[in-house]
Amino acid sequence: MQNVRMQTQNNSFLDGLRTIVGASHVLTDDLGFYELDWRKKYHGKALAVVKPANAGEISQIIKLCAAHRISIVPQAGHTSLVGGSVPNESGEQLVLNVARLNAIRAIDLVNNTMTVEAGCILQTVQETATAHDRLYPLSLAAEGSCQIGGNIGTNAGGVQVLRYGNTRELIMGIEVVLPSGEILESLRGLRKDNTGYDLKQLFIGAEGTLGIVTAAVLKLYPKPRATQTVIVGLQSPTAALKLLNLMRSHLAERLTAFELISALSLSLVLKHIPGQRAALADQFPWYVLLEANDSQSIAQLELAMQTALEEAFEAELIQDAVLSKNETEAKQFWGLRENITEAQTIESKNIKHDISVPISKIAEFIERTDALLEAKYPGVRIVNFGHLGDGNLHYNIAHPVATHTEASWFALYEEVNELVHDSVHHFGGSISAEHGIGQLKREQIKRYKSDTELKVMRAIKAALDPLGIMNPGKVI
Ligand SMILES: Cc1cc2nc3c(=O)[nH]c(=O)nc-3n(C[C@H](O)[C@H](O)[C@H](O)COP(=O)(O)OP(=O)(O)OC[C@H]3O[C@@H](n4cnc5c(N)ncnc54)[C@H](O)[C@@H]3O)c2cc1C
Repeated sequence: MQNVRMQTQNNSFLDGLRTIVGASHVLTDDLGFYELDWRKKYHGKALAVVKPANAGEISQIIKLCAAHRISIVPQAGHTSLVGGSVPNESGEQLVLNVARLNAIRAIDLVNNTMTVEAGCILQTVQETATAHDRLYPLSLAAEGSCQIGGNIGTNAGGVQVLRYGNTRELIMGIEVVLPSGEILESLRGLRKDNTGYDLKQLFIGAEGTLGIVTAAVLKLYPKPRATQTVIVGLQSPTAALKLLNLMRSHLAERLTAFELISALSLSLVLKHIPGQRAALADQFPWYVLLEANDSQSIAQLELAMQTALEEAFEAELIQDAVLSKNETEAKQFWGLRENITEAQTIESKNIKHDISVPISKIAEFIERTDALLEAKYPGVRIVNFGHLGDGNLHYNIAHPVATHTEASWFALYEEVNELVHDSVHHFGGSISAEHGIGQLKREQIKRYKSDTELKVMRAIKAALDPLGIMNPGKVI
């Protein structure tokens, strides 16, 4: 009897959805893609997937959901690495996919802004900016699939944060449909606006728990005229930190990326990814991939880069360096960095961490945490790489071959996680630098956030979403 009543309610809900968006935009069969996360760790079951076309339709959908007490999982490009865009296993949640909101609404070349809808693919936004001789600097390996709504939901970082900041720094206005169904329209694109609370910031990094972002005003930059990419070999993270300071003193804001790569990380790329070859003739314990750009000529940039590198050689901070000769070679260098994730997956499953500590503490963090892990699990393999210039490491740990199998290693998942995250906490760091909390780290943040921080987060959630229908089970 209970089941029959639920089925009738669900049917009436689905009919309501079809009336709002049209039957072809309500999916109930073959939902596999929408229910499985990118890492294939979480496999949920959705009541349906709805694909609305605009904020007005989303507003009506949310009101319908509130009336039926059906919760919503906002979804954009579905590349979340923390299970943020997957429904739970109840079969009772609605996936609201924003891919159809994909218009570029306006470009203002004097204000240097672009107004886009949430379903625009990041790469399309980058290409549109380029076509107008501008730069939208957010750049990450998932840029061909991830969408602006998801970038905002996760406050995505990527490889140019050093110069241009996270997504948070690139958003000048926002349009959001609130859990009440009201539309908060704040697409002003103002560089100065001190009229009270900066509401847009609440929704950036909220992982869809406070509302559905439908559009945003993005900040554009002048398109660089010259880019120089370099790989250096060096002995330690301490040397890398000193190099970062030296490079900054020579290149200042022109330094856009400063990526640390361990020898093990590089060796996995060379072993597993076809077509990749080492940039330097000799092997080193550590490498840094760095990039700078300039609105002046390449000659000027090269001169500044070469002067800086010569000083680094003289100070014995680096032992070798190679500068890209052209764009193709720069892409090859980036391939060595961007393929690490795939290469390590091919090698073996590993326990991943996306952490940050103050930049000044990175070397100490690595030394201490490596030692703690090695003492507890001799022979452990640490695949360590990341955005050193932002204090952000992807510190991933594969099993010691002599003592563990992949399965026995994953049985220690929580224990290994806790060791690493406790060490992050020891240095005043964060257990999620750029991927978010999602469902992966929801329990873990309770250990590292203060009671007051959690209380304020819960109060904000309760104030905006009293029914708890917006992406429940994620973040808090
Ligand atoms: C290969 C790869 C490389 C990556 N590299 C990086 C990196 O370098 N830096 C980095 O920061 N991240 C990286 N990521 C993860 C990153 O979070 C996502 O790539 C991206 O920002 C998420 O966008 P998406 O459109 O796929 O969002 P989704 O995965 O669909 O959603 C992400 C979160 O945002 C919410 N959300 C989605 N749409 C909306 C909306 N319209 N309104 C409100 N909430 C919404 C979802 O509910 C979910 O919680 C990488 C992922 C992959 C697969």
